[in-house]
Amino acid sequence: MIKKILIANRGEIALRIHRACQEMGIRTVAVHSTADASAMHVRLADESVCIGPPPARDSYLNVAAILSAATITGAEAIHPGYGFLSENAAFAEMVEAHGLIFIGPTAAHIRMMGDKIAAKDAMRGLGVPLVPGSAGALDSLEEAAEVAERIMYPVLIKAAAGGGGRGMKVAHSADELEEAWRVARTEAKAAFGNDAVYMEKYLDKPRHIELQILADNHGNVVHFGERDCSLQRRHQKLVEEAGSPALNAAEREALGAQVTSGLRKLGYRNAGTLEFLYQDGQFAFIEMNTRLQVEHPVTEMVCGVDLVREQIRIAAGEALGYGQEDVRFSGHAIECRITAEDPVTFAPSPGRVNTFHAPGGLGVRVDSALYSGYSVPPHYDSLVAKLVVHAPNRAQAIARMHRALQEMVVDGIATTLPLHQRIMADPEFQSGEYTIHWLERFVGRTE
Ligand code: ADP
Repeated sequence: MIKKILIANRGEIALRIHRACQEMGIRTVAVHSTADASAMHVRLADESVCIGPPPARDSYLNVAAILSAATITGAEAIHPGYGFLSENAAFAEMVEAHGLIFIGPTAAHIRMMGDKIAAKDAMRGLGVPLVPGSAGALDSLEEAAEVAERIMYPVLIKAAAGGGGRGMKVAHSADELEEAWRVARTEAKAAFGNDAVYMEKYLDKPRHIELQILADNHGNVVHFGERDCSLQRRHQKLVEEAGSPALNAAEREALGAQVTSGLRKLGYRNAGTLEFLYQDGQFAFIEMNTRLQVEHPVTEMVCGVDLVREQIRIAAGEALGYGQEDVRFSGHAIECRITAEDPVTFAPSPGRVNTFHAPGGLGVRVDSALYSGYSVPPHYDSLVAKLVVHAPNRAQAIARMHRALQEMVVDGIATTLPLHQRIMADPEFQSGEYTIHWLERFVGRTE
């Protein structure tokens, strides 16, 4: 087994990875920027190395500093978490070129799925259903107009290198196409240095449903069911559930069988998530994430699996040791992403947390790097805590989340706790009948 792992991340996910390592008897190396010198992941890790000043490009994205930290501490492997370098194929290659293990897929698969056009091509070849759209990149506005006429408005122009909802623009009719084309390309160029775009039919009432998979280096691929991540604001997820209130066991099984057989053919390894839009009983693939997802705990709660532990075992060359028939789903889990933002305006709210009190009790899990007296730095993602609950069924999970949210105290900064309370109390949310557009309207009702 690996003896020492460098965690190339910060915040709650660095802590999450540290916890799995500790339980496996693996020593941890934390890396941090000067802004994070007193962060919880640094305090708990066995060793820590400062890798640069606060801006992420100089620290958490500083490949040379991270590789040096791994070398001087004698770490054998690097876990990238999510965000930062987690989907950077060149980084994965460099890690391996330094004789270290990259805890994730091969650089080739990261590269393939990072280009959404290549990803869709690969999935088409494996027989996975796609959202109707352009065959590849759009070369001109004229071509965009042709494709839009064929698949029919409304259409969505999306960046090939997209992520975080950037470089994505809807055109409801031909009049809006030129503007959408121009804005999407400009945004894509600015955010990703690549203005290649493609087109998809804009679905009017889909749910976002994604499937978690694990694959070892011995040809075993298993799925752990779906997560429903339809509750989004500006294409960013706020609340996730496992399983989806819209799916039954037969649909889950059919999708799972198709995806696992496809990924086995592809030779994929480690953890991955396939994202689909689901409308009128049909699944349509939109993208694959080649890393651990923020919302992975809801899957862990219903399957009783430690996904980070599994990632590490796979990276060390171990076989999964179980098959699809051994994966059992029990009860229902919900995650609320608590961010340091105003619950109405969503203005960022970094600063000092005077008091942090985590909720507890049966079926409650808090993944957070907060502590009383900690200052949330302004330089990074605003996620400060993931509150996760597990209960025998969805109604009980909602009641439990409501109760846990009431117990939780983050005093000193504004957080989205009140918004999550309102969502849990809402009859429409409780009915489970929502689409990706529901939350945007719900938030708008009080703005
Ligand atoms: P990103 O990588 O930027 O997150 P995705 O392709 O994963 O982009 O899409 C993010 C979100 O945008 C989806 O979860 C969904 O809410 C919305 N979306 C993406 N494609 C479509 C589409 N064809 N029709 C309607 N909504 C879409």
